[in-house]
Amino acid sequence: MSTPRVILLCGGVGGAKLALGLDRSLPSGDLAIVVNTGDDFDHLGLRICPDLDTVLYTLAGVVHPEQGWGRADETFAMLDELARRGGPDWFRLGDRDLALHLQRSLRWRRGDRLTEITADLVSQFGVHSAILPMTDDIVATRLDTAEGTLDFQDYFVRRRCAPVVREIHYDGATAASMSPAFLRALSSPRLERIVIAPSNPLLSIAPILSIPGVSDQLRKTGVPIVAVAPLIGDRAVKGPTAKLMQELGMRAGVVGVYDFYAERYPALIDAMLIDRSDGHEATAIGCVVASTDTLMQTMDDRLRVAQSVLELSVKGGRP
Ligand code: GDP
Repeated sequence: MSTPRVILLCGGVGGAKLALGLDRSLPSGDLAIVVNTGDDFDHLGLRICPDLDTVLYTLAGVVHPEQGWGRADETFAMLDELARRGGPDWFRLGDRDLALHLQRSLRWRRGDRLTEITADLVSQFGVHSAILPMTDDIVATRLDTAEGTLDFQDYFVRRRCAPVVREIHYDGATAASMSPAFLRALSSPRLERIVIAPSNPLLSIAPILSIPGVSDQLRKTGVPIVAVAPLIGDRAVKGPTAKLMQELGMRAGVVGVYDFYAERYPALIDAMLIDRSDGHEATAIGCVVASTDTLMQTMDDRLRVAQSVLELSVKGGRP
């Protein structure tokens, strides 16, 4: 049974960078990573879990280094052939990646829980941290846009985040339950810290927090909850975080990120790690703030951000 010291709430590419830094900074078994499954979808008859796979491939050291998702050593024979037959090739599925989706889908359709399937993959890939889907139920992020309501991957991959977003829904979330493994991790007697990755607050973290009971259970642990800002200045390192925040009437920047968490999930965040260049914003953030260079390009950057998150002193913790 896993008794983590640190729990990370995480999305895909941005979150996986910190997941890797923490995984390599902590002794084996000390980290549990709770991953967003709101991006999961059915495609070509397969169950695809993009954020879980990004975290898995990253920690296993097999991720495509430039993309940050998919496999490094990959071929696309299936996708090329599919395109020749007139099939949908907008979602890039490599041959090795496809094998994982096939095996997961086989097990999922015969009733195995996503948590068990993921745990087996973690062990096959030799990963030492626990990777836990936020839920074994289906939650699907959908976006109301100027072009109508879009499924997540339709918006994110096929339309490259171009449509203007008016509202975001996490369909199924209110009927979903936290996975039992997520709950067990939160009751770890060794738990010292919960970290919110520099993932998209609206598309990667909010789906996790939208499951009933999650924010209460996080608070009940009594350990400090530290969020890493996913923006540097008013810009995302990658992806639509800043664009989405603006479209939804928020201020794109670290203060806007803090305000989003504080308004939607009151008293959840105890501390925030922001980029050094945003230091002047610290007084406008209503929690403990620390800064470092949060741009994670190299392995050393990932380790530095991980270290800052682990060392950030949150005076007194929670009562
Ligand atoms: P996705 O599901 O693949 O979009 O990935 P996430 O939601 O986990 O991460 C997207 C967020 O990660 C964006 O807001 C990026 O700005 C942020 N991000 C990516 N790389 C970095 C980095 O090196 N440093 C920081 N601070 N944020 C990053």
